[in-house]
Amino acid sequence: MMVPYNAPIADMRFVLKDLGLLGQVQQLHGGEEITPDLVEAVLEEAGKLARDVLAPINHAGDRQHSRLENGVVRTPDGYAEAYRAYVEGGWNSVPFEADYGGQDLPWTIATAVQEMWQSANLAFGLCPILNQGAVEALQAHGSEAQKQLYLPRMISGEWTGTMNLTEPQAGSDLSQVKTRAERREDHYRIRGQKIYITYGEHDLAENIVHLVLARCDDAPEGVKGISLFIVPKFLPDETGAPGQRNDVRCVSLERKLGINGSPTCVMAYGDDEGAVGYLVGEENRGLEYMFTMMNNARLAVGVQGLAAVERAYQQARDYARERRQGRAIDGTYPAAIIRHADIRRMLMTMRAYSEAMRALILDAMLMQDTARRHPEESYRLYAKRRVGVLTPVVKGWCTDMAVELTSMGVQVHGGMGYIEETGAAQHFRDSRILPIYEGTNGIQANDLVGRKLIRDGGEAIGEYIDELHALINGLNERGGEDMAIIRRQLALAVDHLDNATGHLLEHGAENPDAAHGAAAYYMRLFGLTAGGAMMARAAIVAQDKLDGGGEEIDRGFYEAKLATALFYAENILPLSAGLVTPIARGPASLRAIPDEAL
Ligand SMILES: Cc1cc2nc3c(=O)[nH]c(=O)nc-3n(C[C@H](O)[C@H](O)[C@H](O)COP(=O)(O)OP(=O)(O)OC[C@H]3O[C@@H](n4cnc5c(N)ncnc54)[C@H](O)[C@@H]3O)c2cc1C
Repeated sequence: MMVPYNAPIADMRFVLKDLGLLGQVQQLHGGEEITPDLVEAVLEEAGKLARDVLAPINHAGDRQHSRLENGVVRTPDGYAEAYRAYVEGGWNSVPFEADYGGQDLPWTIATAVQEMWQSANLAFGLCPILNQGAVEALQAHGSEAQKQLYLPRMISGEWTGTMNLTEPQAGSDLSQVKTRAERREDHYRIRGQKIYITYGEHDLAENIVHLVLARCDDAPEGVKGISLFIVPKFLPDETGAPGQRNDVRCVSLERKLGINGSPTCVMAYGDDEGAVGYLVGEENRGLEYMFTMMNNARLAVGVQGLAAVERAYQQARDYARERRQGRAIDGTYPAAIIRHADIRRMLMTMRAYSEAMRALILDAMLMQDTARRHPEESYRLYAKRRVGVLTPVVKGWCTDMAVELTSMGVQVHGGMGYIEETGAAQHFRDSRILPIYEGTNGIQANDLVGRKLIRDGGEAIGEYIDELHALINGLNERGGEDMAIIRRQLALAVDHLDNATGHLLEHGAENPDAAHGAAAYYMRLFGLTAGGAMMARAAIVAQDKLDGGGEEIDRGFYEAKLATALFYAENILPLSAGLVTPIARGPASLRAIPDEAL
């Protein structure tokens, strides 16, 4: 069964070019090289690889799974060839520093490409995501010698990187990490067990570079005693080529609900002489370093959420055009189910969310680029604050919605969605991990409310809400009934967000239990509103294009953009009323749940 995928290049182009993101990227250091032609070529070529190579092996990989055979992990048929094509096309190196062989493309562009890999094949796409996080962590914290040795190979894709945090007793709470590191002359010996390690072992590349959290014997307790180590599967010899086999092995693979093509490994370190590990940076600062990797990976997991929704939407829409059942309102019988109002509601919901998520994510990535490449420090700091706020929102909101919306994709198919034959169920199953890994969404919501709002005294979020008010003021000047509706609904949602923010700031610190209890509502309210703001910006651009006459435009495309923005305003933004209520019920609100009730 082959489920087609076509990259939504026109939608990506709309966000990048029409919403002005590319123009802003061009103002950044090195941005003059990022021409519209270059972006077009990158998107087109990536779209072909995603459509022709990665998408066709998605469904079969889900059925076949990765397998452990005599200590060797075999990925599903076609994965190794696909990985080779991906590496040979230079795709692994897109966003990384040119000094180590990267192409130095901005994250804003690299993320549009990333969406394609994840839509085409989420299980395959995890390997580059983990590698990307490992590269980021080494770029930021590795010694120059470590960077020279590992980065060029991890950037080219000859070697892949992994992230080894989790242990049976240390999941969300990494202060419990027990893996030990013993000092030797120029290295450490690592002993312990890690679980759930994605692509911890595989047959795609000649070497695997594990980034491992472990504790030195005399380290302080808790998070302040954790260090970060590079533990290569094969120790590089003096030429840098993979040499002696290190004492690290995959001892079993997890059976799981989805992303079956990707191996989720239990890893044993140091069963014999101890695995050789090399310290990154200084001892006891490992968790801080790992956060570089986790922040990058959190945004990437948000992209996976969007990608899953886009894929599920395309499939549901195509099915709804073919499947005939029942009488349409206009009397057609039997009608394609896409004629039925409830199917149209579901498809439009999926589409509207995916457009809002894409615009929000790419805007967050623009901030990521701005934080790194803007010539002026004040802008870099502003952008850094914004990335800090948007990271838990992108991760938490986009992945929570991915589960709901891929489920909607199943619903569009009726019974054919529930049985495995169509592949619709796979998107739903694959998405279910997204709110769990890379910091569960409960942890993301706590981060948003606890650190990004209350600890910050509301500065960064206040700055963002001020911008939302300015956007609404701008909408005041626009004519037309559609724009009036969009303005009204967005203004209501922003008021709700403003209210909830004020309430949490005022009462959250003295009542943290209740504030954290409200955090999931707040995160969703935030995502919903931030997505709505991007849709309003899209509506303004679409309206201007349609009103502008002059240049040759695809009117149908821009009319569709306006229709989706209107749908979002009328059907999705009003949900904000139900989300503010549990947070700001009045002076006595924010009630913690009593033990007796559970
Ligand atoms: C398929 C898969 C792939 C993975 N890949 C990797 C990988 O490559 N590398 C790696 O290191 N790990 C990986 N993980 C591990 C993953 O990151 C953890 O499962 C995740 O961080 C949650 O930890 P846990 O499973 O121990 O759940 P727990 O921490 O036990 O959480 C259970 C529940 O309690 C909640 N909870 C826990 N603490 C708090 C808190 N302080 N406040 C509020 N709620 C809380 C959680 O939100 C969750 O709902 C993977 C997991 C899976 C399933």
